[in-house]
Amino acid sequence: MRIDLHTHSAVSDGTDSPAELVATAAAAGLDVVALTDHDTTAGWAAAAAARPAGLTIVPGMELSCRYFPAGEPPISVHLLAYLFDPLHPAFAEERVRLREERLTRGERIVTALAADGYPVEWAQIVARSDGGVVGRPHIARALVDAGVVDSVDAAFATVLHHRSPYYAAKADTDVLDGIRLVRAAGGVPVFAHGLATSRGRVVGDDAIAEMAAAGLLGVEVDHPDHTADQRAYLRALAAGLGLLRTGSSDYHGSNKRTPIAACTTEPDQFEELLAAGTGVPVVTG
Ligand code: AMP
Ligand code: FE
Ligand code: FE
Ligand code: ZN
Repeated sequence: MRIDLHTHSAVSDGTDSPAELVATAAAAGLDVVALTDHDTTAGWAAAAAARPAGLTIVPGMELSCRYFPAGEPPISVHLLAYLFDPLHPAFAEERVRLREERLTRGERIVTALAADGYPVEWAQIVARSDGGVVGRPHIARALVDAGVVDSVDAAFATVLHHRSPYYAAKADTDVLDGIRLVRAAGGVPVFAHGLATSRGRVVGDDAIAEMAAAGLLGVEVDHPDHTADQRAYLRALAAGLGLLRTGSSDYHGSNKRTPIAACTTEPDQFEELLAAGTGVPVVTG
């Protein structure tokens, strides 16, 4: 059994359509794939409709969150959510708020870049996202297309870096509230790439314990942005807190270089995750 529990389609900031993504998953030899677009469930139906024989699709999402350490600025954290009720009103409402927040924040970044002469235009970036959830990768693509940088990676390393003067933060969900919302909607909350320092400041063990007390059920241990030491550390921490451990690629199509199935989840951990969620994966023969 090969199981990848974290992937993005063009419904958020990946480049494969949901149908292409499930085809890519099957071609890579995966038995199970979770679709976890940022702050939206809009790709679930198209992924299910295009399911190749033998592939199990787990409906999921990656919720944009923040952790608030006492007396320090908030830390951006991502919360994976699986097998929840997409119609749970409070959770659905929070996703709408996050998507609107992404639009105003993206526009702020692009307006600041344009004011300094970068040849990017917000309306064009929104149009190219084709109704998808806009993120920095869309701005990065526009910078590549305009010839400002030669890759999405280069854009993230420079003007779109979280320490760039052009960077703008989003008012993301308090992660403790996010965990409670996912649980209220019957889902399984899993802390995504928790020690990925390339993305900015990371939380301490105390925060993860606080998250566990709020209802967190799992930790993403094997992730391309984690070193071997970080994986070992998180694996032990998760075991100590009684949390399940996942592994996943965080595939974004050609927006990132990581291939699908680059990291995978152990079957026993997947079974635990299935048992903990009220939703059902899309399976058949
Ligand atoms: P945002 O959610 O708008 O703040 O943008 C962050 C998103 O960009 C995350 O989903 C990351 O996976 C993605 N990202 C971060 N670094 C890179 C990179 N070097 N290339 C492509 N995507 C990236
Ligand atoms: Fe992303
Ligand atoms: Fe993430
Ligand atoms: Zn992701």
